[in-house]
Amino acid sequence: MDLRFTEAQEILKKMARDFLTTECPKTLVRELEKSEKGYSPELWKKMAELGWMGLVIPEEYEGMGYTFQDLTVLLEEAGRNILPGPLISTVISTFPILEAGTEEQKKELLPKIARGELIITTALLEAEGTFNAYGIAAKATPKGDDFIINGTKLFVEMAHVANYTICVTRTKDGTSPEKGITLFLVDSKAPGISCEVMPTIAADKLCEVRFENVTVPKKNMLGKIDEGWPIVEMMLRKGAIAKCAESIGAIQTCVEMTVAYSKERVQYDRPIGAFQALQHIMADMWTSMETGRYLVYEVAWMESEGQPCAKEASLAKAYVNEAYKNVGQWAIRLHGAIATSHDHDIPLYYRRSKAADTTYGGTDFHRELVAQKIGLI
Ligand SMILES: Cc1cc2nc3c(=O)[nH]c(=O)nc-3n(C[C@H](O)[C@H](O)[C@H](O)COP(=O)(O)OP(=O)(O)OC[C@H]3O[C@@H](n4cnc5c(N)ncnc54)[C@H](O)[C@@H]3O)c2cc1C
Repeated sequence: MDLRFTEAQEILKKMARDFLTTECPKTLVRELEKSEKGYSPELWKKMAELGWMGLVIPEEYEGMGYTFQDLTVLLEEAGRNILPGPLISTVISTFPILEAGTEEQKKELLPKIARGELIITTALLEAEGTFNAYGIAAKATPKGDDFIINGTKLFVEMAHVANYTICVTRTKDGTSPEKGITLFLVDSKAPGISCEVMPTIAADKLCEVRFENVTVPKKNMLGKIDEGWPIVEMMLRKGAIAKCAESIGAIQTCVEMTVAYSKERVQYDRPIGAFQALQHIMADMWTSMETGRYLVYEVAWMESEGQPCAKEASLAKAYVNEAYKNVGQWAIRLHGAIATSHDHDIPLYYRRSKAADTTYGGTDFHRELVAQKIGLI
């Protein structure tokens, strides 16, 4: 298997790296952590001009027509620079429209997403805190030509700035939790919606979104009534792979910074990188990065090719979640006291490793899926 990047992917990678190095310095990352919006509309506009939000949208809807694998190349670079904002939540929420939307929905929404005019997100998790279908309690009840949504969603990425929220609802209590799930595109300004940003370790603007008698027209249903769970599974799978790609980029920065620091920091008359104990730790950090990278490149390629890869996506997410947290911890230890300071870049990454773990399924959720796929459950 050849997992080397194509020429076009190398160009995309270099363009993204050069752009983010200039346009997304850590001063901006820190500023956006404290800001209300959590993203820069100016930067968002420039990213839209480069085609990033429309990367996987077909050209007929004003997108770039690239593959899912190409998207992961871009997201790895976003992760290297810990780009803040709604890029992943918007591109991952685009897939239900692409794969289950009507032609009318596609024509209406996809060009606007590609042009950077629409930010979208998905409201899935609730008080149960599980990515499994049994956690969906928010109800959508039919009323004439509309549905009325009631419920509370938690940890909804960037909902406070999203124009549309894909709300995962229960429309029927069936024989199994996966039956009776329906997705709706909800205008974030619809009466009855309230949104509050939750305090989180990465200040990544996860929101609590309340739906109180929110009226949604039937034409805003995504996919078929009661049959929405496979769309959620597809979104979770793609989201997990996308988040892994982003995390691999972040891991690489942590490893590179640590190796560079170990060559310049002198203790006991020699660079700390000359001590065997630290060399072994950095060798382990490098191994975690490379192991995770190949798991992610393989599954991104499988997903792009339309091959079944639920197991591969879950084992990649379970592995990369832990690798990012471990590498972040090692990076702090090897930098010594300076990395406990808020002014240092390593803690910016470490805090995001905790956040990345829980996005699109935490380690134990994905371990359980792997256990299912290998016949243990
Ligand atoms: C929260 C906090 C509070 C602090 N408060 C105080 C205080 O009140 N007063 C004070 O004086 N200091 C204080 N310190 C500083 C503390 O004493 C130093 O952080 C500590 O001595 C380590 O030094 P360093 O940070 O320079 O790391 P370094 O010595 O540069 O170490 C960096 C890395 O190299 C490793 N390393 C170093 N030498 C070797 C070796 N020979 N072999 C193998 N590995 C090695 C270390 O284990 C570490 O992983 C504080 C630190 C922290 C984090």
